[in-house]
Amino acid sequence: MSDLMNVDLASARILADFERLSAEGVSLLDGLGRVLAEDIIAYHAIPSFANSSMDGYAVRAADLGATNTLLRVVDDIAAGAPIPQRRIAPGEAARIMTGAPIPHGADAVVPMEQTDQPWRSGEHTALPAYVTIKGSVKAGAFIRPVGEDIKAGQVVLTAGTVLTPAEIGVLAALGMAAVPVIRRPRVAIISTGDELIEVGEPLSPGKIYDANGYSLYALSVVCGAEAIRLPIARDTLDDTRARFREAVEHRPDVILSSAGVSVGTFDVVKTVLNEMGKIGFWKVNLRPGKPLAYGTISGIPFFGLPGNPVSAMVTFELFVRPVLLKLGGRPDDTQTLRVTAGEAIQSDGRRSYLRAMLRRDGDQWVATLTGTQSSGALTSMILADALVIIPEGITTVAAGTMLDARLLRPVR
Ligand code: AMP
Ligand code: MG
Repeated sequence: MSDLMNVDLASARILADFERLSAEGVSLLDGLGRVLAEDIIAYHAIPSFANSSMDGYAVRAADLGATNTLLRVVDDIAAGAPIPQRRIAPGEAARIMTGAPIPHGADAVVPMEQTDQPWRSGEHTALPAYVTIKGSVKAGAFIRPVGEDIKAGQVVLTAGTVLTPAEIGVLAALGMAAVPVIRRPRVAIISTGDELIEVGEPLSPGKIYDANGYSLYALSVVCGAEAIRLPIARDTLDDTRARFREAVEHRPDVILSSAGVSVGTFDVVKTVLNEMGKIGFWKVNLRPGKPLAYGTISGIPFFGLPGNPVSAMVTFELFVRPVLLKLGGRPDDTQTLRVTAGEAIQSDGRRSYLRAMLRRDGDQWVATLTGTQSSGALTSMILADALVIIPEGITTVAAGTMLDARLLRPVR
């Protein structure tokens, strides 16, 4: 056991090899879901000019008595109009639309319903010569002042923010056509093995469909990466070499392969990796997924994940996901919960990440295993809310024991 590498040390050692990727500019709509690379400073206030929040009359609040004040209507200001030149003098008012600029001299808006000269929106009504205002208003009423939402010079969004629809709207309001974001990590994915066939092909005896190429692709995309799936590499030196060369040609930030790295077995994959790169074949104190190859191929960071479909997903989760998040400038939001074992659990003394469902019981989370922990039983990953961690050195866990669980999805 002592020659096995600790999971946390392995992960930390890997993560230290990576740095956040550089920035690129993308059009505003392409920014959705991307990570902002720089702080965004407002070059103008929003609103940038004081404007009316109602259809009504712009007035001088001090002119208005408690009831029925007659004012002379001297201007008609539509939304989109330039700042009016005509100043509102005592005893005067201007008809004004929602969003239209407040004229000089006026300090409040009276909604049209509180006057004797309302109009129906969308209908042209001749400008009245006079308007009677039924009550009084406070100075500032129904005026959206300059900078009510955003002040000029304010840091509106900070670097590292993931752009959601609200941020996209704010950036548009600021007039930004393009946005600086962190480049997406590019991940090239290779499945290896003579037994593999491509989805859509007929199943033949002894063959299995390539599941890993797809689950690893999807996991990468969920981490914000751009994934490239290469054709299946057959168990010949020539084919495997050709596939890895093809992966390198895509200039990815990370190359992932699955299968062919089992410790102790000869495999063409290992031969090719040793030719093309500097690879460590690690035995990690981990179940599922003990064998892990890690290094570089033609200078590109490389992970050789185990072939068993669950092992491939779990090792991605533990070793690759943190790397893709770091490259992409995304916070590692992995959550660990303390849970109660809902049943007795046997382990083999390696650090085990067991697929479990979580259920709330009072103020506790209770973990129940998904059933068989075979690393080929991929449907267990559909059922699993979390990976329950059985620490190294432990072989039996009694029901009711408190354990750590690494969440695979949010639970409530
Ligand atoms: P290996 O690491 O090559 O010994 O493979 C371990 C197990 O994983 C074998 O049962 C393989 O058939 C299976 N396996 C390998 N690659 C894949 C794949 N891409 N999709 C599904 N199963 C796979
Ligand atoms: Mg194989």
